[in-house]
Amino acid sequence: MFETLSDRLTSVFSSLRAKGRLSDADIDATCREIRIALLEADVALPVVKDFVAHVKERARGVEVSQALNPAQQVVKIVNDELIDILGGETRRLRYAKTPPTVLMLAGLQGSGKTTLAGKLARWLREQGHVPLLVACDLQRPNAVQQLSVMAERAEVAVFAPEPGNGVGDPVEVARRSVEHAKRQQHDVVIIDTAGRLGIDQELMRQAADIRDAVSPDEVLFVVDAMIGQDAVTTAQAFMTGVGFDGVVLTKLDGDARGGAALSVRHVTGRPIMFASTGEKLEDFDAFHPDRMAGRILDMGDILTLIEQAQKTFDEAEAAKMASKMASGDGFTLDDFLDQMMMVRKMGPIKNLLGMMPGMGQMRDQLNQVDDKDLDRIAAIIRSMTPGERAEPKIIKGSRRERIARGSGVTVTEVNNLVIRFFEAQKMMKRMSQGMGIPGMPGGRR
Ligand code: GDP
Repeated sequence: MFETLSDRLTSVFSSLRAKGRLSDADIDATCREIRIALLEADVALPVVKDFVAHVKERARGVEVSQALNPAQQVVKIVNDELIDILGGETRRLRYAKTPPTVLMLAGLQGSGKTTLAGKLARWLREQGHVPLLVACDLQRPNAVQQLSVMAERAEVAVFAPEPGNGVGDPVEVARRSVEHAKRQQHDVVIIDTAGRLGIDQELMRQAADIRDAVSPDEVLFVVDAMIGQDAVTTAQAFMTGVGFDGVVLTKLDGDARGGAALSVRHVTGRPIMFASTGEKLEDFDAFHPDRMAGRILDMGDILTLIEQAQKTFDEAEAAKMASKMASGDGFTLDDFLDQMMMVRKMGPIKNLLGMMPGMGQMRDQLNQVDDKDLDRIAAIIRSMTPGERAEPKIIKGSRRERIARGSGVTVTEVNNLVIRFFEAQKMMKRMSQGMGIPGMPGGRR
């Protein structure tokens, strides 16, 4: 799920990578692309409009940062807005002060309600609760049977009208189940209600009657993420017909485009609380807006890099370094060491390089990068005299031997480092003449 959206957004960001500063025209073009990406993912139009307006406003207001390049800043803004639209904070289940906590599930037939009842029961049981599953779908043949199977798999008790007792009254079953739960020390009651293939008044009235009879602590609206734009209409109908406190998205494992996930919170004002990702009982978890946004952007790594860079880079230091690098010659081995240590502080080098935009294609080479190499380089530089560090050109034959001995490496390694340093110095000169490496101080001008 979300693959198309991820791909599109990633390509929007990669086209920004080469940019120095973002002009208003760049921002407009980017926002247009984001808009198309969201619409193609079946996100509801009002949601798309709001989303893009926010991104545009924030992108125009970004300050020039030494730590982040424009593409990274836009990624960060889009990520923040995605989290926001998905509900911000994770919304946890509210338990009643006096048990039992009553949870009522509502949604269309086939949305995955009964399966969800089982998942929720298992999830709660694993956390030490003693849930009771209640079968109030007395219309669909086999619904009671299906719930009993779920209960068995989830290893929880089930409350259902006796078979052969006629159709039964779901409102009465719900009411009695809560009494039963109190007597039997169940601390959570999960009521599975009847669904229809489409929205209808009878369905809404029955759900509302059950709600009135048991005053649930949470009414959860269950919606199949694969129904695309219809998710929004269905959610609105249930909002008016029954009302609900939270949303459960099911079938997120399908190849849906993800529009439901991105629209439903915004349109109903109710948080997504759980997500279902398969037919098995364990394919289920609480919904975390930040993780979902990371998945959509497929850029969790870059976001981490961005955060680390923001935390680690001292803007003033970075500016000083940038001006040294720009001059090329002013860049000494001491600076080289400082910079390496700065990078080292941000985490394992392999991860770090892997996180840089555009480094994806270089994964194989990156896998050979070792933090120990960095430490060896640091040791070599530390074995040099201040004069040698400031003026690496003087590092010749006997000096090289002394440095190798001092740092416990071979002369070849010292030679290689000096060569690499001169290459880096050359590259910096070129960079300062206009090219730029994203994310590196001084890489933008
Ligand atoms: P209900 O009519 O709302 O009670 O829906 P069911 O619980 O009977 O689910 C309808 C179908 O969807 C069943 O075949 C379930 O196995 C399947 N299903 C439920 N949740 C998921 C899910 O998260 N992923 C997938 N792939 N299938 C699901």
